[in-house]
Amino acid sequence: MNDNPPFAGEEVAARLLAWYGRCGRDLPWRRTREPYRIWLSEIMLQQTGVSTVIPYYERFLQRFADVQALAAASVDEVIELWAGLGYYSRARNLHAAACQVVAELGGRFPADLQDLMALPGIGRSTAGAILSIAFDKKAPILDGNVRRVLIRLYAVDEPPRAAAVEKLLWQRAEALTPAERPHDYAQAIMDLGATVCTPRNPDCSTCPLAALCQANRLGLAEELPRRQPRKPVPLVRQVALLLERDGEFLVSKRPLQGMLAGLWEFPCRQLTEGQAAETAIDELLVELGLPGRLRELGRVRHAYSHFRLEVAVFQVVVDDGLVGGQIAEGEPSVWLPPAELAGLALHGAHKKVRALLASPD
Ligand code: SF4
Repeated sequence: MNDNPPFAGEEVAARLLAWYGRCGRDLPWRRTREPYRIWLSEIMLQQTGVSTVIPYYERFLQRFADVQALAAASVDEVIELWAGLGYYSRARNLHAAACQVVAELGGRFPADLQDLMALPGIGRSTAGAILSIAFDKKAPILDGNVRRVLIRLYAVDEPPRAAAVEKLLWQRAEALTPAERPHDYAQAIMDLGATVCTPRNPDCSTCPLAALCQANRLGLAEELPRRQPRKPVPLVRQVALLLERDGEFLVSKRPLQGMLAGLWEFPCRQLTEGQAAETAIDELLVELGLPGRLRELGRVRHAYSHFRLEVAVFQVVVDDGLVGGQIAEGEPSVWLPPAELAGLALHGAHKKVRALLASPD
């Protein structure tokens, strides 16, 4: 790591601000400085790209125009509107933070780093983005885009998540953030990472920082940041049952805590090590009080951040009299026709299971 880069920090801000004036993106959350809207956009953008976020952001604002409306909703409503954006803990934290802002802060977002970080789902970088964009305060951000730009700008040729690198990047981010126009600077450096200094094929020839950038000078732009060695991702196997009665299918809501909380799914069971799908589905049938052996309808695959899931899907049609006593009506399990399944907040893997209903081959 070069501790004495051959350029002044002020020059970086000046170049970025000039470039942003010409090339900054016109995004819905750029037309406001309202802390509620900035916070909402920053939470949505934490793990999701701009083009995916825009329609969700607009739907959320139509349904929840302000933090009071969001706090007054149920967490179920929020999760339903969030369905498809992934990383659902963000939706639960969003609702919890809205309730806290309304109940404890009179409905006003705090303009202080520590107070913002005390709200659920707001880390240091998100707090910095809210402070700089909504309140025009000098506060550094270090999201994925900014991290990549800084690693290249200073040619940090070390594991990007190492504690020493993390510390240095925060110091650099702080030193570069200008006292004048911090809200424009924050958006400029995020835009540069998203549109020019991209993960692959950075466009150094059009970059306003090209003359300063150490990675560009050393021919390392494509190489940095160094990839973290990947851990093998385990495979989890599951069986799922499309259980049909009078044209309706049984679905259950997952608990409100834990992974995929509050989302819906078909009856399912995880396979044990070496267990055949047929054995597991037989056990599930016994559990549901249903007789018989089923035909496998197909398989679906879904990737999560820390494991891959393979689901063997079976279908059976039963008469009313054959439905076992284990299947309780009402929450959290209900029978729904395909038209209602289409609008249900199933989790991603079971959306793919549902799709097999339309194409059973
Ligand atoms: S010159 Fe290239 S590597 Fe350096 S900041 Fe610009 S786009 Fe990124």
